[in-house]
Amino acid sequence: MKRRTTADKKLIKKINTNAILNVIKQKGPISRADIAKILALNPATISSNVNDLLQTRLIEEIGIGDSSGGRRPILLRVNSKENYIIGVHTELTHVNVGMINMDGDMQVKHVYPYPKAGRELTEKDMMTIIISGIKDILFKSNVDSDKIIGIGLGMHGLVNSEKGESIFAPAFNWHHISIKQILSETFDTDIIVDNDVRVMAIGEKWFGKAKKSDNFILINLSEGIGGALVINGKLYSGNTFGAGEIGHIQVTRQPYACKCGNTGCLTTVASEEGVVDRLKELISTKDYGVFHIERLDDLTIDKIYDAAFQKNPVVVKLLTETGGYIGRSIGSLINILNPEKVILTGPMLKVKAFLMDAIKASAASTSISDNYVETKITVSSIEEDLGVIGAATLIINNLFMGIDT
Ligand SMILES: [Zn+2]
Repeated sequence: MKRRTTADKKLIKKINTNAILNVIKQKGPISRADIAKILALNPATISSNVNDLLQTRLIEEIGIGDSSGGRRPILLRVNSKENYIIGVHTELTHVNVGMINMDGDMQVKHVYPYPKAGRELTEKDMMTIIISGIKDILFKSNVDSDKIIGIGLGMHGLVNSEKGESIFAPAFNWHHISIKQILSETFDTDIIVDNDVRVMAIGEKWFGKAKKSDNFILINLSEGIGGALVINGKLYSGNTFGAGEIGHIQVTRQPYACKCGNTGCLTTVASEEGVVDRLKELISTKDYGVFHIERLDDLTIDKIYDAAFQKNPVVVKLLTETGGYIGRSIGSLINILNPEKVILTGPMLKVKAFLMDAIKASAASTSISDNYVETKITVSSIEEDLGVIGAATLIINNLFMGIDT
Protein backbone atom coordinates (compact mmCIF):
# COMPACT_ATOMS: atom_id res chain seq x y z
CA MET A 1 0.00 0.00 0.00
CA LYS A 2 1.22 3.47 -0.85
CA ARG A 3 2.16 5.51 2.20
CA ARG A 4 0.23 8.74 2.67
CA THR A 5 2.41 11.79 2.12
CA THR A 6 2.16 14.99 4.17
CA ALA A 7 0.46 16.58 1.13
CA ASP A 8 -2.17 13.79 1.15
CA LYS A 9 -2.82 14.35 4.85
CA LYS A 10 -3.16 18.10 4.30
CA LEU A 11 -5.66 17.45 1.52
CA ILE A 12 -7.73 15.10 3.67
CA LYS A 13 -7.73 17.71 6.42
CA LYS A 14 -8.86 20.40 3.98
CA ILE A 15 -11.67 18.19 2.68
CA ASN A 16 -12.78 17.41 6.24
CA THR A 17 -12.61 21.07 7.23
CA ASN A 18 -14.66 22.13 4.20
CA ALA A 19 -17.22 19.41 4.88
CA ILE A 20 -17.53 20.45 8.53
CA LEU A 21 -17.88 24.12 7.57
CA ASN A 22 -20.55 23.17 5.06
CA VAL A 23 -22.57 21.27 7.69
CA ILE A 24 -22.26 24.19 10.14
CA LYS A 25 -23.42 26.61 7.43
CA GLN A 26 -26.37 24.42 6.40
CA LYS A 27 -27.47 23.10 9.80
CA GLY A 28 -25.99 25.47 12.40
CA PRO A 29 -26.22 26.14 15.26
CA ILE A 30 -25.13 22.52 15.69
CA SER A 31 -23.12 20.49 18.20
CA ARG A 32 -19.84 18.70 17.49
CA ALA A 33 -21.54 15.36 18.15
CA ASP A 34 -24.27 16.04 15.56
CA ILE A 35 -21.65 17.06 12.97
CA ALA A 36 -19.83 13.77 13.62
CA LYS A 37 -23.07 11.84 13.06
CA ILE A 38 -23.91 13.65 9.81
CA LEU A 39 -20.42 13.25 8.31
CA ALA A 40 -19.74 9.79 9.78
CA LEU A 41 -16.35 11.03 10.99
CA ASN A 42 -14.91 10.14 14.36
CA PRO A 43 -15.34 12.72 17.18
CA ALA A 44 -11.57 13.27 17.52
CA THR A 45 -11.31 14.32 13.86
CA ILE A 46 -14.28 16.67 14.28
CA SER A 47 -12.81 18.12 17.45
CA SER A 48 -9.39 18.84 15.96
CA ASN A 49 -10.85 20.39 12.79
CA VAL A 50 -13.38 22.46 14.76
CA ASN A 51 -10.57 23.81 16.95
CA ASP A 52 -8.70 24.93 13.83
CA LEU A 53 -11.85 26.56 12.46
CA LEU A 54 -12.45 28.35 15.76
CA GLN A 55 -8.91 29.71 15.58
CA THR A 56 -9.55 31.13 12.11
CA ARG A 57 -12.73 32.76 13.52
CA LEU A 58 -14.74 31.39 10.59
CA ILE A 59 -17.06 29.80 13.16
CA GLU A 60 -18.03 30.66 16.74
CA GLU A 61 -19.35 28.86 19.78
CA ILE A 62 -22.71 29.96 21.09
CA GLY A 63 -24.92 29.13 24.09
CA ILE A 64 -25.88 25.68 25.10
CA GLY A 65 -28.06 23.36 23.03
CA ASP A 66 -30.78 20.90 24.06
CA SER A 67 -29.45 17.80 25.68
CA SER A 68 -30.95 14.36 25.64
CA GLY A 69 -29.25 13.50 28.93
CA GLY A 70 -25.62 13.90 29.97
CA ARG A 71 -23.51 17.02 29.40
CA ARG A 72 -25.25 19.81 27.46
CA PRO A 73 -23.37 20.53 24.23
CA ILE A 74 -21.97 23.83 23.02
CA LEU A 75 -23.32 24.81 19.62
CA LEU A 76 -21.33 26.04 16.63
CA ARG A 77 -22.36 28.46 13.95
CA VAL A 78 -20.75 30.49 11.17
CA ASN A 79 -19.24 33.69 12.52
CA SER A 80 -20.93 36.31 10.34
CA LYS A 81 -19.74 39.31 12.33
CA GLU A 82 -16.03 38.55 12.05
CA ASN A 83 -15.85 37.73 8.34
CA TYR A 84 -16.54 39.94 5.37
CA ILE A 85 -15.96 39.62 1.65
CA ILE A 86 -15.48 42.24 -1.05
CA GLY A 87 -17.35 41.75 -4.33
CA VAL A 88 -16.43 43.56 -7.55
CA HIS A 89 -18.66 43.57 -10.63
CA THR A 90 -17.26 45.24 -13.72
CA GLU A 91 -19.93 46.57 -16.08
CA LEU A 92 -19.60 48.31 -19.43
CA THR A 93 -19.74 51.87 -18.10
CA HIS A 94 -18.85 51.48 -14.42
CA VAL A 95 -17.67 49.10 -11.73
CA ASN A 96 -19.79 48.15 -8.70
CA VAL A 97 -17.93 47.34 -5.50
CA GLY A 98 -19.53 46.16 -2.27
CA MET A 99 -18.92 44.26 0.95
CA ILE A 100 -21.10 41.41 2.23
CA ASN A 101 -21.07 39.27 5.36
CA MET A 102 -21.19 35.47 5.37
CA ASP A 103 -25.00 35.58 5.22
CA GLY A 104 -24.90 37.49 1.92
CA ASP A 105 -26.09 40.76 3.50
CA MET A 106 -24.74 43.88 1.80
CA GLN A 107 -22.82 46.05 4.28
CA VAL A 108 -21.76 48.88 1.99
CA LYS A 109 -21.68 49.39 -1.78
CA HIS A 110 -20.76 52.06 -4.28
CA VAL A 111 -20.69 52.65 -8.05
CA TYR A 112 -17.45 53.88 -9.66
CA PRO A 113 -17.97 55.23 -13.22
CA TYR A 114 -15.24 54.85 -15.83
CA PRO A 115 -13.69 58.16 -16.88
CA LYS A 116 -13.69 57.09 -20.56
CA ALA A 117 -15.85 55.04 -22.90
CA GLY A 118 -15.27 51.27 -22.76
CA ARG A 119 -13.12 50.91 -25.87
CA GLU A 120 -10.84 53.81 -24.85
CA LEU A 121 -10.34 52.37 -21.38
CA THR A 122 -6.96 50.69 -21.01
CA GLU A 123 -6.46 47.72 -18.73
CA LYS A 124 -4.35 49.95 -16.48
CA ASP A 125 -7.23 52.47 -16.20
CA MET A 126 -9.60 49.66 -15.27
CA MET A 127 -7.32 48.07 -12.67
CA THR A 128 -6.67 51.51 -11.11
CA ILE A 129 -10.43 52.11 -10.74
CA ILE A 130 -10.99 48.65 -9.27
CA ILE A 131 -8.13 48.98 -6.75
CA SER A 132 -9.19 52.46 -5.62
CA GLY A 133 -12.83 51.28 -5.43
CA ILE A 134 -11.88 48.38 -3.14
CA LYS A 135 -9.80 50.71 -0.93
CA ASP A 136 -12.72 53.15 -0.78
CA ILE A 137 -15.18 50.40 0.26
CA LEU A 138 -12.74 49.18 2.93
CA PHE A 139 -12.53 52.75 4.25
CA LYS A 140 -16.31 53.34 4.11
CA SER A 141 -17.07 50.04 5.86
CA ASN A 142 -14.93 50.67 8.96
CA VAL A 143 -14.21 46.92 9.00
CA ASP A 144 -10.68 45.92 10.10
CA SER A 145 -8.68 44.49 7.21
CA ASP A 146 -8.05 41.26 9.18
CA LYS A 147 -11.79 40.53 8.99
CA ILE A 148 -11.73 40.51 5.18
CA ILE A 149 -11.49 36.90 4.04
CA GLY A 150 -11.28 37.55 0.32
CA ILE A 151 -12.08 39.48 -2.82
CA GLY A 152 -14.24 38.04 -5.59
CA LEU A 153 -14.46 39.68 -9.01
CA GLY A 154 -16.88 39.14 -11.88
CA MET A 155 -15.57 40.18 -15.29
CA HIS A 156 -17.49 40.17 -18.55
CA GLY A 157 -16.25 38.06 -21.45
CA LEU A 158 -14.08 34.97 -21.36
CA VAL A 159 -12.33 34.37 -18.03
CA ASN A 160 -9.90 31.65 -16.99
CA SER A 161 -11.10 31.18 -13.41
CA GLU A 162 -8.21 28.87 -12.54
CA LYS A 163 -5.63 31.56 -13.32
CA GLY A 164 -7.84 34.56 -12.47
CA GLU A 165 -7.21 35.90 -15.94
CA SER A 166 -9.48 37.80 -18.34
CA ILE A 167 -8.88 35.92 -21.60
CA PHE A 168 -10.93 38.27 -23.79
CA ALA A 169 -13.21 41.17 -22.85
CA PRO A 170 -14.99 42.17 -26.11
CA ALA A 171 -16.41 45.47 -24.80
CA PHE A 172 -12.93 46.69 -23.86
CA ASN A 173 -11.08 44.76 -26.53
CA TRP A 174 -8.55 43.30 -24.08
CA HIS A 175 -6.76 40.00 -24.18
CA HIS A 176 -5.06 38.13 -21.32
CA ILE A 177 -5.18 40.45 -18.33
CA SER A 178 -3.90 38.79 -15.13
CA ILE A 179 -6.48 40.39 -12.83
CA LYS A 180 -5.79 38.13 -9.85
CA GLN A 181 -2.05 38.71 -10.02
CA ILE A 182 -2.43 42.49 -10.29
CA LEU A 183 -4.83 42.64 -7.31
CA SER A 184 -2.54 40.36 -5.25
CA GLU A 185 0.19 43.00 -5.47
CA THR A 186 -2.04 45.37 -3.42
CA PHE A 187 -4.33 43.11 -1.37
CA ASP A 188 -3.02 40.29 0.83
CA THR A 189 -6.11 38.07 0.83
CA ASP A 190 -7.74 35.30 -1.21
CA ILE A 191 -8.73 36.53 -4.67
CA ILE A 192 -10.98 34.70 -7.13
CA VAL A 193 -11.97 35.96 -10.58
CA ASP A 194 -14.66 34.51 -12.82
CA ASN A 195 -17.06 35.51 -15.59
CA ASP A 196 -19.67 38.02 -14.37
CA VAL A 197 -22.73 35.97 -15.29
CA ARG A 198 -21.24 32.78 -13.86
CA VAL A 199 -20.71 34.56 -10.53
CA MET A 200 -24.36 35.68 -10.63
CA ALA A 201 -25.36 32.02 -10.96
CA ILE A 202 -23.25 31.18 -7.87
CA GLY A 203 -24.87 34.10 -5.98
CA GLU A 204 -28.32 32.88 -7.01
CA LYS A 205 -27.46 29.34 -5.90
CA TRP A 206 -26.30 30.49 -2.44
CA PHE A 207 -28.67 33.32 -1.66
CA GLY A 208 -31.42 33.49 -4.30
CA LYS A 209 -34.08 31.43 -6.03
CA ALA A 210 -31.75 28.61 -7.06
CA LYS A 211 -30.92 27.53 -3.46
CA LYS A 212 -32.66 24.20 -4.03
CA SER A 213 -31.96 23.82 -7.75
CA ASP A 214 -29.11 21.80 -9.24
CA ASN A 215 -30.13 22.39 -12.84
CA PHE A 216 -30.79 25.96 -13.82
CA ILE A 217 -29.88 28.66 -16.33
CA LEU A 218 -29.22 32.25 -15.36
CA ILE A 219 -29.60 34.94 -18.01
CA ASN A 220 -28.40 38.51 -17.54
CA LEU A 221 -30.36 41.03 -19.63
CA SER A 222 -28.20 44.11 -19.63
CA GLU A 223 -26.20 46.27 -22.06
CA GLY A 224 -25.38 42.87 -23.54
CA ILE A 225 -26.90 39.43 -22.87
CA GLY A 226 -25.01 36.65 -21.09
CA GLY A 227 -25.89 33.30 -19.59
CA ALA A 228 -24.57 30.73 -17.13
CA LEU A 229 -25.43 27.05 -16.96
CA VAL A 230 -25.57 25.00 -13.77
CA ILE A 231 -25.84 21.31 -14.57
CA ASN A 232 -26.11 18.65 -11.85
CA GLY A 233 -24.96 21.19 -9.26
CA LYS A 234 -21.88 22.20 -11.25
CA LEU A 235 -21.21 25.37 -13.18
CA TYR A 236 -20.65 24.28 -16.73
CA SER A 237 -17.76 26.21 -18.30
CA GLY A 238 -17.35 24.31 -21.55
CA ASN A 239 -14.16 23.25 -23.25
CA THR A 240 -12.52 26.71 -23.36
CA PHE A 241 -14.54 28.64 -20.72
CA GLY A 242 -16.99 29.73 -23.44
CA ALA A 243 -20.24 28.04 -22.33
CA GLY A 244 -23.42 30.03 -21.74
CA GLU A 245 -23.07 32.57 -24.56
CA ILE A 246 -26.82 32.74 -25.10
CA GLY A 247 -26.44 36.33 -26.40
CA HIS A 248 -24.82 34.93 -29.52
CA ILE A 249 -27.57 32.55 -30.56
CA GLN A 250 -28.76 33.72 -33.97
CA VAL A 251 -32.40 34.81 -33.74
CA THR A 252 -32.88 36.89 -36.89
CA ARG A 253 -31.76 36.82 -40.51
CA GLN A 254 -31.49 40.61 -40.44
CA PRO A 255 -27.79 41.37 -40.89
CA TYR A 256 -27.33 43.28 -37.60
CA ALA A 257 -23.60 43.15 -36.94
CA CYS A 258 -22.55 41.67 -33.62
CA LYS A 259 -19.31 42.34 -31.69
CA CYS A 260 -18.55 38.62 -32.01
CA GLY A 261 -18.19 39.01 -35.79
CA ASN A 262 -21.44 37.24 -36.73
CA THR A 263 -24.81 38.82 -37.53
CA GLY A 264 -28.32 38.54 -36.13
CA CYS A 265 -27.24 37.43 -32.63
CA LEU A 266 -29.79 37.75 -29.79
CA THR A 267 -27.79 40.56 -28.21
CA THR A 268 -28.01 42.69 -31.40
CA VAL A 269 -31.81 42.87 -31.11
CA ALA A 270 -32.72 42.14 -27.49
CA SER A 271 -30.03 43.66 -25.22
CA GLU A 272 -30.39 47.25 -24.02
CA GLU A 273 -28.00 48.30 -26.79
CA GLY A 274 -29.98 46.26 -29.33
CA VAL A 275 -33.30 47.78 -28.26
CA VAL A 276 -31.89 51.31 -28.60
CA ASP A 277 -30.50 50.45 -32.06
CA ARG A 278 -33.82 48.98 -33.22
CA LEU A 279 -35.83 52.00 -32.10
CA LYS A 280 -33.31 54.30 -33.81
CA GLU A 281 -33.78 52.28 -36.98
CA LEU A 282 -37.58 52.54 -36.71
CA ILE A 283 -37.47 56.29 -36.12
CA SER A 284 -35.11 56.90 -39.03
CA THR A 285 -36.92 54.66 -41.51
CA LYS A 286 -40.54 55.62 -40.78
CA ASP A 287 -41.83 58.98 -41.92
CA TYR A 288 -44.30 59.32 -39.05
CA GLY A 289 -43.56 60.34 -35.49
CA VAL A 290 -43.06 56.96 -33.84
CA PHE A 291 -41.17 58.44 -30.93
CA HIS A 292 -40.57 62.07 -30.27
CA ILE A 293 -36.88 62.88 -29.89
CA GLU A 294 -34.95 65.97 -31.04
CA ARG A 295 -31.75 64.16 -32.03
CA LEU A 296 -31.41 60.45 -32.69
CA ASP A 297 -28.14 60.39 -30.74
CA ASP A 298 -30.04 61.53 -27.62
CA LEU A 299 -32.01 58.28 -27.53
CA THR A 300 -31.10 56.25 -24.44
CA ILE A 301 -32.46 53.06 -22.92
CA ASP A 302 -33.78 55.03 -19.93
CA LYS A 303 -35.87 57.20 -22.29
CA ILE A 304 -37.24 54.02 -23.85
CA TYR A 305 -38.11 52.60 -20.41
CA ASP A 306 -39.89 55.88 -19.52
CA ALA A 307 -41.85 55.70 -22.77
CA ALA A 308 -42.84 52.11 -21.96
CA PHE A 309 -44.26 53.19 -18.60
CA GLN A 310 -46.26 55.86 -20.46
CA LYS A 311 -47.54 53.05 -22.69
CA ASN A 312 -46.04 54.45 -25.90
CA PRO A 313 -47.47 51.88 -28.40
CA VAL A 314 -44.32 51.72 -30.55
CA VAL A 315 -42.12 51.02 -27.52
CA VAL A 316 -44.56 48.51 -26.04
CA LYS A 317 -44.58 46.65 -29.39
CA LEU A 318 -40.78 46.82 -29.56
CA LEU A 319 -40.44 45.32 -26.06
CA THR A 320 -42.96 42.58 -26.88
CA GLU A 321 -40.86 41.65 -29.93
CA THR A 322 -37.75 41.78 -27.71
CA GLY A 323 -39.37 39.34 -25.28
CA GLY A 324 -40.15 37.12 -28.28
CA TYR A 325 -36.49 36.97 -29.29
CA ILE A 326 -35.34 36.23 -25.72
CA GLY A 327 -38.02 33.56 -25.33
CA ARG A 328 -37.00 31.86 -28.55
CA SER A 329 -33.44 31.46 -27.28
CA ILE A 330 -34.74 30.19 -23.94
CA GLY A 331 -36.91 27.68 -25.81
CA SER A 332 -33.80 26.23 -27.47
CA LEU A 333 -32.05 25.95 -24.10
CA ILE A 334 -35.09 24.23 -22.57
CA ASN A 335 -35.04 21.70 -25.40
CA ILE A 336 -31.35 20.96 -24.96
CA LEU A 337 -30.86 21.17 -21.19
CA ASN A 338 -34.32 20.54 -19.69
CA PRO A 339 -33.58 22.81 -16.67
CA GLU A 340 -35.68 23.20 -13.50
CA LYS A 341 -35.50 26.98 -13.69
CA VAL A 342 -34.52 29.80 -16.02
CA ILE A 343 -33.72 32.80 -13.81
CA LEU A 344 -33.59 36.25 -15.38
CA THR A 345 -31.65 39.17 -13.98
CA GLY A 346 -30.28 42.52 -15.17
CA PRO A 347 -31.46 46.12 -15.63
CA MET A 348 -33.86 45.25 -18.47
CA LEU A 349 -36.14 43.74 -15.85
CA LYS A 350 -37.21 47.29 -15.00
CA VAL A 351 -39.65 46.71 -17.87
CA LYS A 352 -40.37 43.08 -17.02
CA ALA A 353 -44.11 43.92 -17.13
CA PHE A 354 -43.69 44.38 -20.90
CA LEU A 355 -41.30 41.45 -21.45
CA MET A 356 -42.30 38.45 -19.36
CA ASP A 357 -45.52 37.37 -21.12
CA ALA A 358 -43.79 37.54 -24.50
CA ILE A 359 -40.75 35.65 -23.17
CA LYS A 360 -42.90 32.84 -21.77
CA ALA A 361 -45.16 32.60 -24.85
CA SER A 362 -42.17 32.45 -27.17
CA ALA A 363 -40.30 29.90 -25.02
CA ALA A 364 -43.44 27.75 -24.92
CA SER A 365 -43.87 27.84 -28.70
CA THR A 366 -40.23 26.92 -29.39
CA SER A 367 -39.69 24.09 -26.90
CA ILE A 368 -41.10 20.61 -26.35
CA SER A 369 -44.18 21.08 -24.20
CA ASP A 370 -43.27 18.28 -21.75
CA ASN A 371 -40.00 20.11 -21.09
CA TYR A 372 -41.57 23.58 -20.99
CA VAL A 373 -44.29 22.84 -18.42
CA GLU A 374 -41.69 21.56 -15.97
CA THR A 375 -39.46 24.64 -16.35
CA LYS A 376 -40.04 27.73 -14.24
CA ILE A 377 -39.09 30.99 -15.96
CA THR A 378 -38.64 33.51 -13.17
CA VAL A 379 -36.89 36.72 -12.08
CA SER A 380 -33.98 36.83 -9.60
CA SER A 381 -34.91 37.84 -6.07
CA ILE A 382 -31.57 39.64 -5.59
CA GLU A 383 -31.83 41.70 -8.80
CA GLU A 384 -29.58 44.77 -8.84
CA ASP A 385 -26.97 43.59 -6.30
CA LEU A 386 -26.58 40.12 -7.79
CA GLY A 387 -23.32 40.97 -9.62
CA VAL A 388 -21.54 42.15 -6.45
CA ILE A 389 -23.07 39.52 -4.14
CA GLY A 390 -22.28 36.80 -6.67
CA ALA A 391 -18.66 37.94 -7.02
CA ALA A 392 -18.18 37.94 -3.24
CA THR A 393 -19.86 34.54 -3.05
CA LEU A 394 -16.97 33.08 -5.09
CA ILE A 395 -14.96 33.24 -1.84
CA ILE A 396 -17.73 31.73 0.32
CA ASN A 397 -18.37 29.02 -2.28
CA ASN A 398 -14.70 28.10 -2.29
CA LEU A 399 -14.52 27.91 1.51
CA PHE A 400 -17.66 25.88 1.97
CA MET A 401 -17.20 23.40 -0.83
CA GLY A 402 -20.38 24.70 -2.44
CA ILE A 403 -21.15 24.67 -6.13
CA ASP A 404 -18.40 22.99 -8.13
CA THR A 405 -16.87 25.48 -10.55
ZN1 LIG B 1 -22.69 37.61 -31.55
